[in-house]
Amino acid sequence: MRKAITILGIMGCVMVLATTVWAARYQFVTIGTGGVTGVYYPTGGAIAKMVNRKKKQYLIRATVESTGGSVFNVNALMSGDLEFGVVQSDRGYQAYNGLADWESVGKQTKLRSVFSIYPETVTLIVAEESGIQSCDDIRGKRIAIGNPGSGTRKNSSDALGTCGLTFDDLGAAEGLKASEGSKMLQDGRIDGYFYTVGHPNGSIKEAVAGRIKVRFVPFTNTSTLLGQHSYYANAIIPVDHYPGVTNSGNVNTFGVKATFLTSSDVDENAVYAITKEVFENFDQFTSLHPAYSALTREDLLKGLSAPLHKGALKYYREAGLL
Ligand code: GLU
Repeated sequence: MRKAITILGIMGCVMVLATTVWAARYQFVTIGTGGVTGVYYPTGGAIAKMVNRKKKQYLIRATVESTGGSVFNVNALMSGDLEFGVVQSDRGYQAYNGLADWESVGKQTKLRSVFSIYPETVTLIVAEESGIQSCDDIRGKRIAIGNPGSGTRKNSSDALGTCGLTFDDLGAAEGLKASEGSKMLQDGRIDGYFYTVGHPNGSIKEAVAGRIKVRFVPFTNTSTLLGQHSYYANAIIPVDHYPGVTNSGNVNTFGVKATFLTSSDVDENAVYAITKEVFENFDQFTSLHPAYSALTREDLLKGLSAPLHKGALKYYREAGLL
């Protein structure tokens, strides 16, 4: 009996030791994304998948975390709680330069770019019965403007600005997550919600699939805003992704890019490995989500908001891309 207990004890120790050695060999990195019905979440998953296939070669294990979005991700990158994050290009620019949400805390100079990914459009989706068709009809309505921590929130205020409105002109400005926005819209508790997001995405699909008929609201008075901020560009919402939406054609609005960011504190090898795997398996990567279908390799180097991380730079130089 005593012998059996001793053998079991030794086996236990060996297992603990093996696990510790295994864990010590691997570098664990976490990718911050957004809500599970957005495009950041599957994007984090797609990037993690590319690098985890070669985990034995790179000794990296990437995991994905659902978060409140761009602003949360920047702050978590800066505090070291995340190693990578998907972040809107406008929010990355503001953080690096100490603007908007970072005005009181200052420039986030450790922020680094890895690559940019796909376009995101400033999207306002409303109930048909709200009577909102354009800028002229938004005053006094109950609109969700994005949760604190989202990138969306500042875009909502800029979009309303193109209509000569502020949050104070709304009947209610709700700080809801996009996943709650679609449900509240279908429950008739809000008239619409803003979401800065790639298309197609699960949130808008949920909003379109319910009993209440919905439509996208165009933002076309954008020339002053675009003149002030080079991170904004005119964009369209492709309605074909959402059968049932009441707009008859694609909807004009403006947008930014989803970018993949890190911190200068993050290990060069981890950044190099992720960059290399995404670029060298680009066709496979772009097949992982319809929002990336029109991307080219060159697009991934456009619209960056912070300096490149040295691990990414190493790969781009090696591959002759820079
Ligand atoms: N752009 C959104 C934000 O940062 C998140 C979009 C998504 O999760 O796909 O708030």
